[in-house]
Amino acid sequence: MDDLQRKAARYLRQQGDLFSEEYYFEENPIASDAGEHLSLDEWRERVENCTKCPLSQTRTKAVFGGGDPQADLLFIGEAPGEQEDLQGVPFVGRAGKLLDKILAAIELRREDVYIANILKCRPPKNRTPHADEIEQCEPYLQRQIELIQPKLIICLGLTAAKTLLRVEYTLRQMRGEVYNYHGVDLIVTYHPAALLRNPNLKKAAWEDFQKVQEYYL
Ligand code: URA
Repeated sequence: MDDLQRKAARYLRQQGDLFSEEYYFEENPIASDAGEHLSLDEWRERVENCTKCPLSQTRTKAVFGGGDPQADLLFIGEAPGEQEDLQGVPFVGRAGKLLDKILAAIELRREDVYIANILKCRPPKNRTPHADEIEQCEPYLQRQIELIQPKLIICLGLTAAKTLLRVEYTLRQMRGEVYNYHGVDLIVTYHPAALLRNPNLKKAAWEDFQKVQEYYL
């Protein structure tokens, strides 16, 4: 079996696992917004001026994402928190410091990867994103993925995983498998904030990152 056949077989197996015997094939897999020709910097400008949902009225700064635009690894969190909203940079608060340590443990710096979020604006009091906010914001992330073309997407936490995989499983159920997101490998692991709240989860997260190092670096 060549690489493509292996990927196709894995995709079918996953779809079977996730959706039982029903298989979904989308003709135009990634939902397109207008502006297909725009560069990553031009998309950043759009996001910084976005007023599509009410979060634009309460944000300080939109957080587009950052890192190496040609990175092999794309990390996706949930939404900016307080520090991210103030600075316009993803994962700069406590959870971000832990993410930096995790990256260092697999011999990476944040400049080597790309880091983004499902939502580009902070929800008030860091509440969980609402479905309509995700729907409005997701095309920005989809465009980032198309432009960056990572080898691996790492979903940090349930919001990122459920949004991209369109499933309603627990994080524990989704860990440990390599999914296919429109041709890109995708894995799910714990959000660094969850690791801060519950250090018992760190062992499992460490196993996930060791696999990333073994197979993708
Ligand atoms: N949590 C996230 O999910 N994203 C950030 O950028 C910061 C904290």
